[in-house]
Amino acid sequence: MRITGQCRCGQVNIEIVAQQLPPLYACHCLNCQRWSGSAFGLHMLSAVSAVQVSGETAIFEHEHHGHTSTQHACGICHTRLFNETTAAPGMRVVRAGILEGAERFEPVAHIWTRRKQPWLVLPGTIAQWQESPTPEAFAAALG
Ligand SMILES: [Zn+2]
Ligand SMILES: [Zn+2]
Repeated sequence: MRITGQCRCGQVNIEIVAQQLPPLYACHCLNCQRWSGSAFGLHMLSAVSAVQVSGETAIFEHEHHGHTSTQHACGICHTRLFNETTAAPGMRVVRAGILEGAERFEPVAHIWTRRKQPWLVLPGTIAQWQESPTPEAFAAALG
């Protein structure tokens, strides 16, 4: 399948090509709330090779729990697009709100629900953790 996306101004375009839909999860941590200026971050966990980027991105690197996270944004409109982290080599975590037809995709997991906005009610059937799950538990939930 092929999923496309872009920043707000259209300078950067993203294309995800994968056999099946990469897993989507929501993170309700405070960093995701601040960074998105919204209630949670919506992330699509894709292989680097599946995500093509055209246009120029501006990069912001930061240390997080001993790992380096490299955040890519549009250098013009500053829309956050995706990040890579040394905690998950070979993966690109795409900000799913930039994707066309994102309403078709439903998260398969919610993390950091301890910080979740109280008005947001999650379906009990979806995997969820109060904080960060172990990598093994998370991988199992993402399938
Ligand atoms: Zn832009
Ligand atoms: Zn988060």
